[in-house]
Amino acid sequence: MWNLFLPDFYVMDIFEIDFDYLKKNDIKAILIDLDNTLVPWNSSEVNDELIEWIEKGKAKGFKFCIVSNNLARRIIECSKKLGIPAVTGAFKPGKKIFLKGLEITGTSAKETAFVGDQLFTDVLGAKRMGMMVILVKPISEQEFFWTRIIRRFEKKLIDFMEKRGLLTKF
Ligand SMILES: [Mg+2]
Repeated sequence: MWNLFLPDFYVMDIFEIDFDYLKKNDIKAILIDLDNTLVPWNSSEVNDELIEWIEKGKAKGFKFCIVSNNLARRIIECSKKLGIPAVTGAFKPGKKIFLKGLEITGTSAKETAFVGDQLFTDVLGAKRMGMMVILVKPISEQEFFWTRIIRRFEKKLIDFMEKRGLLTKF
């Protein structure tokens, strides 16, 4: 059961993601969570480093789409600043929001990598879709109170996978 929560890769931040590896493995699009993956929770702080990273990915031919459970106007703001589309209005780990993202990138699940910071929404949902899954360490510790509760269980699972050497870096 726990292997539904096992990411293909575990990185400290998005900058550790190896675009060339993804390309070699026929990944054509990257669906990506916003809060605590691209920007700190509840922020629309988009810095130059992040914009450059997206530009670099685009130059390598990847299509991007933000997939967020949040409904705030902030998502649109970040999407505009980064120059990539965003989907909201349905909730991970449900399949609907992932399908909306794939419709925008025009790729199949097999051709798409998902990047996110939460096991029970991002990893579980994207694994069920059959995508390559990259788990990132959350940017900040500030979060919605419910997420902080969930994080305790998440930490146990991550420790379990880490101890067994199941978490892979690029
Ligand atoms: Mg997140």
